[in-house]
Amino acid sequence: MLKICQEKNLSSGDRPDIKNLTPEELSAWLKDNGVDAYRTRQIFKWIYIRNADRFEDMTDLGKDLRARLAATFSIPRLAVQKVETAGDGTSKFLFRLSDGAHIESVLIPERDHDTLCISSQVGCAMGCAFCRTARGGFIRNLTAGEILSQVRDISRLAPDRRLTNVVFMGMGEPLANYENVVNALKMMTENDCGMKFSSRKVTVSTAGWVPKMMDLGKDTRVSLAVSLNATQNETRDLLMPVNHRYPLETLLEACLQYPLPPTRRITFEYVLLAGINDTPEDARRLSKLLAPLRAKVNLIPFNAFEGAAFHRPEEARILNFQNILMKKNLTAIIRSGKGRDISAACGQLAANAMMRRAECRSKCHPSP
Ligand code: SAH
Repeated sequence: MLKICQEKNLSSGDRPDIKNLTPEELSAWLKDNGVDAYRTRQIFKWIYIRNADRFEDMTDLGKDLRARLAATFSIPRLAVQKVETAGDGTSKFLFRLSDGAHIESVLIPERDHDTLCISSQVGCAMGCAFCRTARGGFIRNLTAGEILSQVRDISRLAPDRRLTNVVFMGMGEPLANYENVVNALKMMTENDCGMKFSSRKVTVSTAGWVPKMMDLGKDTRVSLAVSLNATQNETRDLLMPVNHRYPLETLLEACLQYPLPPTRRITFEYVLLAGINDTPEDARRLSKLLAPLRAKVNLIPFNAFEGAAFHRPEEARILNFQNILMKKNLTAIIRSGKGRDISAACGQLAANAMMRRAECRSKCHPSP
């Protein structure tokens, strides 16, 4: 279904997004066209630093090269369908992609900077029981260009914000879209012609897609977050189907082996669900599980959405859980669920995925 949508798109004469190219790929294209590969730097600087929208504006390139680039590639922006801003300053952006699919990104104000939470897929295949995105199932991977566009376009839409941090905690499982995510990460953290984000301030969050964790540590120096969410396999099996494939022991062993840069820690996310994983025993088990690791914990009290079968624990229970971890010398921060009034908090992103899928289906296969 999706392939047909994309083919339709291509056949409508769209030129490929240049942001999908790695520097090596653009250099190869330049070489094939008899142009020195060093022009790659200039072109990407125009795109990622100077925010150019048109090849013809790239005044330090020859006219002929500009024309050839324009005839071959495009520098698309995402179509903004809706922007909502919450009382606490959190903004949620709904984007419409070129095939009609939708994704959401969230800009979160912190004390002295802003963090952008971006999506890596349309929908998600992980099927976590407490996550709204999971309800619509998986639709498709985002391209590297679409991932980068969320950052590039929002920096431009919100120029007065201090965007220093990016987290892959929106829709999708980033490690299940490995190649595109890593190519995007490289451009985000590239220090010469890329977006120049500090690797430490870019965080990839995974549900525990073990086979790609080691690769991420080898291919990049970005920060890693792991959504643990339970301390026993029986509970984690129920909450996160990925646990059947990569159970706690396998996941924690992968964390132990992870090539963590010297002064860094792995962040473990733990969604607190009343009566499911929020007991003092859970807190003690969690501290034991993490003891061999350089770890810190983000406690995320469940963010409710319509039809959800879970509840947020009472405040006292959340604080008690945190206290137990801190007494065991674990850094544990409670994530306050910013943007809850506009459904922008962790795990609430959905962009009405099911509806979009139906829309895409009817466009690709119109009923007679
Ligand atoms: N697939 C990746 C990234 C997307 S989810 C992952 O699993 O890490 C980002 C974070 O939101 C995860 O830690 C997840 O456990 C959490 N989350 C999902 N739904 C939530 C909800 N309803 N309330 C609170 N946190 C939620």
